[in-house]
Amino acid sequence: MNCLECNKELGYLDHKNAMDTVGVELCQQHFVRMKKLIQQHETPLEAIQLYYGLKEAGVNAMLEWWDGKKSVDIAISRVKLNIEIDTKYHMLTHEQAINDLEEAMHSFKNGFTTIRIPHVLIKHYLKETVHNILGIMEGLRANIKVI
Ligand SMILES: [Zn+2]
Repeated sequence: MNCLECNKELGYLDHKNAMDTVGVELCQQHFVRMKKLIQQHETPLEAIQLYYGLKEAGVNAMLEWWDGKKSVDIAISRVKLNIEIDTKYHMLTHEQAINDLEEAMHSFKNGFTTIRIPHVLIKHYLKETVHNILGIMEGLRANIKVI
C-alpha cells in the first residue's frame, strides 16, 4: 500500500487513518493536507475518491478549483470540464435547482461544461463513472478541435 500522491509506502496506522477518514490511501503528510482542504471547502469524500480514480486513469484534474466565483469540486481544465458532486440529491429544493442551473449557465458562458454526479454513483460505480468521464472528455476534446 502506497500513498496515491507521492507513492511512499504506508505503515498500517497511516493507511488505517487515511482510509477511515478520507477513504483513499495517503501518507501522513498528504493525509494532513487533504484533511485541511476538506475542512476549508467541505469537500465531499466522494470528490476525493473520484479525483484519485481519475488520476489513476491518467487524468490530470484539480480538486477545489476556484473558477472566479466559486470553488468547483473537480475541474479538468484541459477540456474545460467542471464536475460537481451532489451530496443532497434527494433533498433538492427548487431554490437549489435554479441556483444549479444559473451556475451551469455561467460556466457555459465561460466555455466550461458542468456535470453533476450524485455521490452514491461514486460509492457504487467508481470505475464506470471514471469511464464515462473519459468519454465525456473525448467528446469535449473533439468539439474543441472543431472550433
Ligand atoms: Zn504522500
